[in-house]
Amino acid sequence: MNEERIHNFSPGPGVLFEEVLENAQRELLNWKNTGMSILELNHRTSEFHELLLSTKSKIRILAKIPEYFEILFLQGGATQVFSSISLNFCDETDTVDYIVNGYWSEFAANEAKKNANVHISNDFNGYTSCPEQSELHILKESKYVHYCSNETIHGLEFQYVPDVGNIPLICDMSSNFLSKPIDNIEKYGMIYAGCHKNVGPAGLVIAIIRPDMFNKRNKRNIPLLMDFTELMKNNSMLNTPPVFNIYMAELTFMKLLNLGGLQIIQQENRKKSLLLYDTIDGSNNFYSYKMKYKDRSRMNVPFMLKNTCLEEEFIKQAGVCGLKGLKGHSQVGHCRASLYNAMSLEGVRKLVKFMKWFQIQNE
Ligand code: PMP
Repeated sequence: MNEERIHNFSPGPGVLFEEVLENAQRELLNWKNTGMSILELNHRTSEFHELLLSTKSKIRILAKIPEYFEILFLQGGATQVFSSISLNFCDETDTVDYIVNGYWSEFAANEAKKNANVHISNDFNGYTSCPEQSELHILKESKYVHYCSNETIHGLEFQYVPDVGNIPLICDMSSNFLSKPIDNIEKYGMIYAGCHKNVGPAGLVIAIIRPDMFNKRNKRNIPLLMDFTELMKNNSMLNTPPVFNIYMAELTFMKLLNLGGLQIIQQENRKKSLLLYDTIDGSNNFYSYKMKYKDRSRMNVPFMLKNTCLEEEFIKQAGVCGLKGLKGHSQVGHCRASLYNAMSLEGVRKLVKFMKWFQIQNE
């Protein structure tokens, strides 16, 4: 690891692979012998067209996305997609189902309420677990079912793909996208992910959409840049696409393929999160978390100290040791370590070593 770099446990924008950053640095002044930077490249050139194709083809291979699924590159963040979904896939009088078990799925449901009748599929659970399949009550008339596979703030990760019969399933995978293989991809009508966690810089959303999802609405007039059908027809280029972000995504996909693909990544992520969870579980309650054991996220680990007054000092001293980004989200406070794909096992080892040392100093 470059000696000037710290270990970045931030929830996003998050840590990127050093090799990806180095490649981008090396190519910054002259990208692929064009004599210019990728940052200066016009999106109507054949070079960019090739980059777009290559990015799509790499993610298809990596995530085993069948050919018939469309891949869109969107802007406006995952938050804009919260609104686009209901505008694209139903009419105002339609009902849609939302599984809500944390901040982001609640946010998505609230945005959909502006455009459709939202039915919440599960009882409120204090945002400490994911509902079981048997706890889901989906209305049969619903036009789609939405859920968030990993609640970034509450540290909850679904361990199964909800079975919603023939109703299209839509998933916000922002914070665990490409951290493991995508199970049962054909069950999804749409998967989307903000890229600033496991893929690259902020500003790009990748959407994977099954063809039967297009043209679902009847007469809704929606803003052009939110219209998935128009975006699909225009190869995600209704306006100037985020050229640099797409380039960075391609570099990351290449890196993940070179590392051996998502199965290997999954094993690494399991190792990293277990190391941290075992440390917390073995701390005699000095550290603890609220999530139900079975639903603990491998990507985002929110935790607290028994003496919460020590948390500020914990975060400060960790920073001095080169361990940054450990402050919990303002909604829930405390601490949180995000362990995205590019976080190394070495980084997590350093974190748990620091946690053990801090405990001894303060018990
Ligand atoms: N969904 C999830 C699961 C997230 O973690 C986030 C951002 N942290 C969002 C949606 C919103 O993403 P954006 O900031 O790109 O709009």
